[in-house]
Amino acid sequence: MLMDRHGRTVSYLRLSVTDRCNLRCLYCRPAESVSYIPHEQILTYEEMTEIVAVAQSLGVHKVRLTGGEPFARRDFIPFVAQLHERFPGLDLRITTNATLLGGRMPELKAAGIRTLNISLDTLDATTFAAITGVDVHAKVLAAVDEALAAGIRVKINAVALRGFNDTELPAFMDFARRYGIDVRFIEFMPIGYACRWSEANFWPAEEIVAALQRLGPLLPETNADPHSGPARMYRIAGSDGRVGVISAVSHHFCASCNRLRVTCDGRLRTCLFSDKDYDVLGVLRRPDYQREMLKELVAQANEEKPLGFELLAARRRKAVCQRVMSAIGG
Ligand code: SAM
Repeated sequence: MLMDRHGRTVSYLRLSVTDRCNLRCLYCRPAESVSYIPHEQILTYEEMTEIVAVAQSLGVHKVRLTGGEPFARRDFIPFVAQLHERFPGLDLRITTNATLLGGRMPELKAAGIRTLNISLDTLDATTFAAITGVDVHAKVLAAVDEALAAGIRVKINAVALRGFNDTELPAFMDFARRYGIDVRFIEFMPIGYACRWSEANFWPAEEIVAALQRLGPLLPETNADPHSGPARMYRIAGSDGRVGVISAVSHHFCASCNRLRVTCDGRLRTCLFSDKDYDVLGVLRRPDYQREMLKELVAQANEEKPLGFELLAARRRKAVCQRVMSAIGG
């Protein structure tokens, strides 16, 4: 097990498989077109498998595959199937915009996928196009229906954006109730060199919770599982649906952070808010590579893991870190 100098242990790896995405979400990447990381600098699936093996040997039991849009990478589903086969005890999850999933649920199920975290910031098609730059709202809704019909669990993540989706709490609550699923509102984080975060579009979690509570009886959920993540969830009375918030900016959860991130170009980041990274790709491609080398790098990185809220409080520029979210993985 890896313990850092603040007494935190690592059990969760977020692994980004690509920086390419078919959406241009305004909170995630710059408005102008971004240049993608060249192919030869992207981790191969074999290299990613080695990273997962090393992570697991160091105490990681949950891996989330992210991007960019993970399903935009070729052969992503076979890769997931292969990970399930190779690491049967691993809690393997995926975060997706769900726009490329039409008709693919049988394939996903066969690959062992039981849950999808789907990013959906709005239930309105016009607002969706305004946020993401692409008019594919119907595809996401269809994917939610298809996934549920196939018996795949769905969790919705919506970035809370004042001026965009702050009128949609009743609709989202109804959505959660009707489908019996989780909808989590994530505070907009000031990340990336061209980030469009501002006090004006930041919608704090406390305001969201207060507004949700005015909409109907909500029962706070106590979380028995310490590794289940930082969301504060509320059950909608009389339904299986739940709504909740992830207050990454206003109420940090650094003290219980159990995460490591590896970007698709093999940079290990121990804190979402820090640009300090570690060259996993370089180690993996050393001609004399041995697993111990990567273990040592991960242990050293973890030892230096900072407290993100201190970086957030000390930031001088708008963004707390320069790398854009689509190239980190969220
Ligand atoms: N393309 C996939 C998707 O849409 O879920 C995976 C990658 S995306 C970077 C992962 C998550 O990060 C999404 O839920 C997205 O909404 C969230 N995200 C991106 N930028 C964010 C920001 N500035 N603040 C909060 N969440 C953000």
